[in-house]
Amino acid sequence: MNAIDDLPPLREVIRRHGLAARKSLGQNFLLDLNLTARIARAAGPLENVTAIEIGPGPGGLTRALLALGARKVVAVERDDRAIAALEEIAQRYPGRLAVVAGDALAFDAKPYLGDGPARVIANLPYNIATPLLTSWLTVEPWPPWYDRLVLMFQREVAERIVAQPGGKQYSRLSVLTGWRAQAKILFDVHRSAFVPPPKVTSSIVELVPRPAPLACDRRLLERVTEAAFGQRRKMLRQSLKSLGLDPLPLLAAAGLEPTARAEEIPVEGFVALARALEAAKMPA
Ligand code: SAM
Repeated sequence: MNAIDDLPPLREVIRRHGLAARKSLGQNFLLDLNLTARIARAAGPLENVTAIEIGPGPGGLTRALLALGARKVVAVERDDRAIAALEEIAQRYPGRLAVVAGDALAFDAKPYLGDGPARVIANLPYNIATPLLTSWLTVEPWPPWYDRLVLMFQREVAERIVAQPGGKQYSRLSVLTGWRAQAKILFDVHRSAFVPPPKVTSSIVELVPRPAPLACDRRLLERVTEAAFGQRRKMLRQSLKSLGLDPLPLLAAAGLEPTARAEEIPVEGFVALARALEAAKMPA
């Protein structure tokens, strides 16, 4: 028995299903169901929610989401060894857990969504965490199919996601995030909470999509941030040369100082640059 349900302890599940963690799959399991319940609670009331969980592994967070009342959990797992363990949870919560065996990078959530809100809640495999976040932030149409993302990242990545202009952490990912969402770190999780412990602290990040982000072509926004942050120590009049046209009129049109550097420019500045690039009729 444990704090949240009458299923066996996770250590026993792992032993019975031969789920020794594999580094190649970014596996660091959370075995404390009180901690997984804390993460689930951080995702807000779950009553009418379809929770999309990426990488459930032995199911610690899955169980917490179900015990805390998620209407449905759709759990996408690439490790075949975990599927039988997850099916046991599905039996305990009839009709509420859909186990999808496959690669999260190729997963389309839309066919699984119900009438209520959808929310992505996951302790992500660290090796694909950034591409997954980027795919959710660039989804079309916008506003997206989810009302919130509540995700675990390595602390260093979490800091880059929520970074504001003016520091070393501010990056392309910060601009994309700030453009489309409001992001904040909710709390840290010490490395000792995982089996096996990773090298660094992790953080839970909440991202709430902005209903109406500043209008601009996403691909052009990505082009200007790529150019600017690709040479982040250089002034924009130099770094933007990689766009293949004279940066000075572009910077003037965007109302930015040619001597400014990428890390000083807020999201609005990059949006203005993307619009100026569009007006200059560059092919996307
Ligand atoms: N949610 C579990 C927990 O908190 O204990 C496990 C988290 S572990 C950090 C990441 C999980 O993602 C592992 O179960 C791993 O097998 C799975 N995973 C890795 N790559 C994946 C992929 N491409 N698609 C789906 N799941 C993946």
